Amino acid sequence: MAGIFEWARDLLVSRGALVEAGEAGSLSAMLPSEVAAALSAADWLSLRFGAGAGSDDEGDWLERLGRLLPPGPRVSGARVRIPRALRPIDAAAILDRELVIQNGIYRLPEEGPSSARYYFFTFQYSIESDETSLGLWTTCLNATARSVVPRPELLLNTLGADLEEDPEAEVPREELTRLFAVALAQARPDVRLAARPAEQNANRRMARDSERIHGYYRDLQRQIEKRIARHSDDPAAAEKERSRAAATELDRAAKLGDLERRYSLKIRIEPCDVLAVTLPVREIQARVIRKKAERAARFHWNPALGALEFPWCEGCGVPAHPVYLCDDRVHFVCQACLAPCAACGKIYCRACQPKCRCGAENSRAAEMP
Ligand SMILES: [Zn+2]
Ligand SMILES: [Zn+2]
Ligand SMILES: [Zn+2]
Repeated sequence: MAGIFEWARDLLVSRGALVEAGEAGSLSAMLPSEVAAALSAADWLSLRFGAGAGSDDEGDWLERLGRLLPPGPRVSGARVRIPRALRPIDAAAILDRELVIQNGIYRLPEEGPSSARYYFFTFQYSIESDETSLGLWTTCLNATARSVVPRPELLLNTLGADLEEDPEAEVPREELTRLFAVALAQARPDVRLAARPAEQNANRRMARDSERIHGYYRDLQRQIEKRIARHSDDPAAAEKERSRAAATELDRAAKLGDLERRYSLKIRIEPCDVLAVTLPVREIQARVIRKKAERAARFHWNPALGALEFPWCEGCGVPAHPVYLCDDRVHFVCQACLAPCAACGKIYCRACQPKCRCGAENSRAAEMP
């Protein structure tokens, strides 16, 4: 799926690797030895994902990178103490009201009782510039319907006392790893947003400090210029002042470089823990239609929230709300994943193809700066 590249990069960075991103979908990394051992890889790792000869197998690397995730105890299973039977719902009314399809329609909705596997992913993040702030971020994914729970904390609170630990819960590793990529794709833009005030603050302080540095060196250079003018009849002395001016200029550039490093923003997102729980839902099945293409889809109505869950974007993993459909395969994507190419203007689906036919790469919602 789209996103393995960013996921691999972030995961490796979070485990202390030095990572450099290369051409489309490729990265090289210097790994700490314990990470290399966990991956059964050499200390120098180079990976390339995507189509084309010589690219690495995504399934294989999902499994290997999955070994870097928190081990057993941090992934826990829970179950509902006494599952309650759910009353039927008015599927058509709910889809009409809550499922917003931007460029297509649905037909023939049918609903019935079902159950869904939910995963709560919690990430810890730090935003560092000259000061550091920390936070936690949680998302809840429904693996069965491939949808996102709109308010994960509310769901946890609502379930609250009804949940009990389920020591027998089996958490399929491969599913967990795939979902982790989706969860991380959702975490990134949100954490980026949370970093906005810190970034603005840092920018403000950096502007103030760099103005001070510019002022200081402006004065110095002015004095040197005056001295050069005074030494018009002494070429050796004037030359000495000129080299002093050059050194001063280098000094200024170094000071500005320091400043940029001090105020540059470093955002780290690390997996914290995962809670897996199976819950009863009402499932709505429907045909989703875009022009001449259609697909069978299922949507889950979450009884604990009394709300329909949104599918996540099949291009980048963020919640697709409203849902955009692609012409060929009726993918559910977000607006950014069906946007015109920035280079040639052609609209294409980021779930169908990772980059435009013209060769341009376009960033997806989950990667927006
Ligand atoms: Zn998208
Ligand atoms: Zn293009
Ligand atoms: Zn598509």
